[in-house]
Amino acid sequence: MRVDILSLFPEMFSAYLNASILHRALESGFLQIKVHNIRDFATGKHHITDEPPYGGGGGMILKPEPIFAAVESLRVQTPDMGQVGAQTPVILLTPQGRLLNQAVARELAGHDRLILLCGRYEGVDERVRQHLVTDEISIGDYVLTGGELAALVVVDVVARLIPGVLGAEGAADGDSHAQGLLEGPHYTRPETFRGWTVPEVLRSGHAAKILRWRREQALRRTWERRPELFLSADLDEEDRQFLRVLAEEQVRRT
Ligand code: SAM
Repeated sequence: MRVDILSLFPEMFSAYLNASILHRALESGFLQIKVHNIRDFATGKHHITDEPPYGGGGGMILKPEPIFAAVESLRVQTPDMGQVGAQTPVILLTPQGRLLNQAVARELAGHDRLILLCGRYEGVDERVRQHLVTDEISIGDYVLTGGELAALVVVDVVARLIPGVLGAEGAADGDSHAQGLLEGPHYTRPETFRGWTVPEVLRSGHAAKILRWRREQALRRTWERRPELFLSADLDEEDRQFLRVLAEEQVRRT
């Protein structure tokens, strides 16, 4: 997958992209990321990228011309960056967009190319949203100072869904939200730490029992923290039986 990120602060990306799994994904070619400075597409002596809002009010608004020019430059075929096709989503990061979740991440991972546009200050000129952007994504109901962190979040969640990025096929399948549930607890060495011992079943070596325990822990955790997820989770009869046990436990406690 290839991702083009448009930002006024391209220097913000390198530390995160140059470490750990994303770095490996970039090195091995599963992922290509190019960060473009919107300022490079601003014309005039001062390369102005933002201006005060019409109608007054505080803050600055990102001008449309450099943003249109940046996206249009990607539509021109270049040897290193290829050509952006009509199907390539141009995604504005904005607190007003649809909320990012695992389903949205899966949808985005189905594209071979994404363009991510990071706003700053009071946001971007509305004509960018109306005539250039094809999708708008929010990473949560709060307001960041800019879209750069949000773009990194999108890149991160999408990258780990690209086959090969996490190594083994299906490595992300047991993660929270991958199948509509939260994941259960994990333990590692030492077996006993300050008197707290790893559950016996995990040390038993009994694969089927471990699998069942993990499923029940996932159900329990979801029940305790995010019961609304059960409305769309894929459950079998054994799961439903376990949920009845959890419900009875809850009744006994109250
Ligand atoms: N005035 C805008 C509003 O109320 O909708 C908020 C502007 S915010 C200070 C500056 C930029 O940060 C936005 O243009 C957007 O790119 C980014 N941003 C802020 N919060 C975000 C969020 N929750 N998700 C994605 N991007 C966000």
